[in-house]
Amino acid sequence: MSQEKRCDYNTCKEIATTKGHVWTRDKEFIEVNACDEHSKLSGFFPEPKEEDK
Ligand SMILES: [Zn+2]
Repeated sequence: MSQEKRCDYNTCKEIATTKGHVWTRDKEFIEVNACDEHSKLSGFFPEPKEEDK
């Protein structure tokens, strides 16, 4: 079974392709899932990919 995750950005309905972290307004560093478009935003910090090891 495939587990498709949705992009966590507001109103976005794309399938998430990248896992990473963002800072919230409360200065918390939280884990989020992002689609191709949102993973390019400057406030998004992608995690290193497992397959890069
Ligand atoms: Zn998105």
